[in-house]
Amino acid sequence: SERLKGKTAIVTGAASGIGSAIAELFAQEGAQLALLDLNSAACESLAARLQRETERQCIALRVDVTDAARINACVQEIEAGLGAADILINCAGINVFRDPLSLSEEDWQRCLSVNLRGPLNGIRAVLPAMLARQYGNIVNIASVHGHKIIPGTFPYPVAKHGLIGLTRSLGVEYASQGIRINSVSPGLILTPSAEEWLESCPDPEAERQRQRDLLPCKRIGEPKEVAYTALFLASDEARFINATDIVMDGGRSQI
Ligand code: NAD
Repeated sequence: SERLKGKTAIVTGAASGIGSAIAELFAQEGAQLALLDLNSAACESLAARLQRETERQCIALRVDVTDAARINACVQEIEAGLGAADILINCAGINVFRDPLSLSEEDWQRCLSVNLRGPLNGIRAVLPAMLARQYGNIVNIASVHGHKIIPGTFPYPVAKHGLIGLTRSLGVEYASQGIRINSVSPGLILTPSAEEWLESCPDPEAERQRQRDLLPCKRIGEPKEVAYTALFLASDEARFINATDIVMDGGRSQI
């Protein structure tokens, strides 16, 4: 099916993991895409492959989401090339897990600026055109860490709680103007950054098994499963869903 036919979508963090899975599914569902990431080489090869396979226009742009001026310039470029964005997926994010007492100012700033200020920068860049057209769907990729605290993960959950707050606050702010803003909160999903974290554990295989055992469904999630939820929220099927968050963690936060 082509649930996003004729839509233009911007995906940040599209060079890897969940962002790449979202880009792939959205292209299959008929969207034209702008893929934004720090890693421009991976973004460019994904854009070229998706354009070849789906015959949708797909462009890649190098962006640091903490750089508001650069995002604004990219959005102008996207509007000129693909048309105004109907959909923005804020997926770029980083894990920052530190001891609260020895956390450096730099790590604190980096955690908040990539995971929280980045999505706000993206939203502020696309909002003027969305308001002018009275249409827009924004999906922020938050985390189950924005709901449930797992020891040893500070300050990442602070940023993800903030992102869920940003979603609720701005979702309400613009609701009467045809714009929906929601978030998805995945549990552990097997992506390059999750693999990196698992490999950093003293016994990666034991940790992998422990993570599986913690889940009622006894398996770790897949990037494509997050992409399906983002697709639903970004599609008009979810038109009465706004300013809220969908937790998708295989039931882990219920036990
Ligand atoms: P990933 O590391 O595989 O991909 C993240 C991408 O974001 C990378 O391509 C990276 O280059 C890009 N990026 C990082 N900082 C950036 C910046 N300043 N500007 C532009 N791009 C930047 O990670 P992932 O696991 O796919 O995570 C994607 C999102 O999902 C993140 O927001 C993460 O917090 C969230 N999340 C992941 C999991 C998980 O278990 N993997 C669970 C819950 C939430």
